[in-house]
Amino acid sequence: MDVTADQAEFQRLVERVCPDLLLACTDNQPSKHVINEVAVRLGIPVVGAGVYDGGIAGEVYATRPGAACYGCITAELQLKDSAPNKPLQIDYNNLDLDEIRSTSALNLDISQIALIHARVALNLLLSGEVELLGLPPEVNLIVFANRRVPGHFERPLHGDFFHIKNHPDCLVCGSPAQNVNAEAERILASLPGQPDSQESQSTV
Ligand SMILES: [Zn+2]
Repeated sequence: MDVTADQAEFQRLVERVCPDLLLACTDNQPSKHVINEVAVRLGIPVVGAGVYDGGIAGEVYATRPGAACYGCITAELQLKDSAPNKPLQIDYNNLDLDEIRSTSALNLDISQIALIHARVALNLLLSGEVELLGLPPEVNLIVFANRRVPGHFERPLHGDFFHIKNHPDCLVCGSPAQNVNAEAERILASLPGQPDSQESQSTV
């Protein structure tokens, strides 16, 4: 199913199945954000992955209830959308050279990231029983370079590990509504010509 087109149905499905873990295996940002929103709402951990353009590297992220969500992670790192900025209907029989450079990744490169994805997912499911990685539990983002790209990835076949904290203004897992309302009240109260809120309360 298209989770972005029918988010409510996707949420109902997840609620019915009530899984221990969701794996985000889709290849575009909007669907990953929908999976994130549903997971945060239902309190289900997610392990997701993405391969960067050309398969030069990839990322694997893990979210748990109460910790940073995918929205926090993308906001913190300001990760670029790895999907190519091309029309949705790409004609794979007539790709031009730019499209080939930006869209193609060797299956070898994709599998490398998929294996890390699967390992992190298994590690989370088996936590407390078997330790497959030995990673500190707070690590929630792994970026793995498949090859050396000067200026971006200086070492081939190398992983970097990150602990991304909750973003206080995250629209998904933060509490921006309360902050916005409190800020709006403060601004309104300070405007000239506005009735003092305490006076108006005392006349009720
Ligand atoms: Zn968040």
